[in-house]
Amino acid sequence: NEELLINSEKLYVAGQLAAGIAHEIRNPLTSLKGFLQLIASGRYSNKNYFDIMKSELNRIESIVSELLMLSKPQIYDLAHKDIRGIIKDTVTLLDTEAILHNIEIESTISEEPLWVRGVENQLKQVFINVLKNAIEAMNDGGRIQMACMLEGDRIIVRIEDYGPGIPEEQLSKIGQPFYTTKEKGTGLGLMVSYKIVDNHHGSIHVHSRVDIGTTFEIILPYSEPAERSEAEGSGGKVTSIN
Ligand code: ADP
Ligand code: MG
Repeated sequence: NEELLINSEKLYVAGQLAAGIAHEIRNPLTSLKGFLQLIASGRYSNKNYFDIMKSELNRIESIVSELLMLSKPQIYDLAHKDIRGIIKDTVTLLDTEAILHNIEIESTISEEPLWVRGVENQLKQVFINVLKNAIEAMNDGGRIQMACMLEGDRIIVRIEDYGPGIPEEQLSKIGQPFYTTKEKGTGLGLMVSYKIVDNHHGSIHVHSRVDIGTTFEIILPYSEPAERSEAEGSGGKVTSIN
């Protein structure tokens, strides 16, 4: 399983991404170089240059950090986790941003533990990406509903917003590398999220209606630890998975 995880990642990164990454990073680099030359020439100097340069550097930084999420997880990072804790962390992390946008995040958390076997940081990144998109979609504020539950042997995490929705002709494009409708977007968040969830043998489903809102459903296989003490979140220590 771990081998499959690693192999498919290598193929994906090598095949589909290299050209796109090179292109997306070359644009801000070219612009940075231009401004440096202007400044070095001594003829022009303007505080604006530094602002533009900083925002170009920020862009490179966000692209690179999102792509880093695609690097292969270390085997010792794999563990059984109760996903409810990861979800609570995610909400805590984004709550201030939500409040700033006049948004209330309402979460309905399962009463029973939701065990998943995976890489905590990566799963957290998925929830952050999807919840952040929901916040960014709700310009006028409002409520975002987040819920997690067990259905049979599947864990369902649902994030529902009442934003503008995604037009049908754009639905197939989301998750494609660098597809974004945002001025400062990278268009990498969902691509990385799809990849991570896929590596965890799960899937992501999107339902969206224009002017009504968007629901993202992240489905992951339920995976109870053989012994409760094996898992973090139940008071036990973390052990490596062989
Ligand atoms: P980014 O957020 O950097 O644009 P993502 O991969 O996270 O990149 O999202 C890609 C695109 O999918 C967004 O630019 C947006 O057009 C669309 N999208 C994602 N989530 C939502 C949502 N909850 N509501 C409306 N549009 C969304
Ligand atoms: Mg995003």
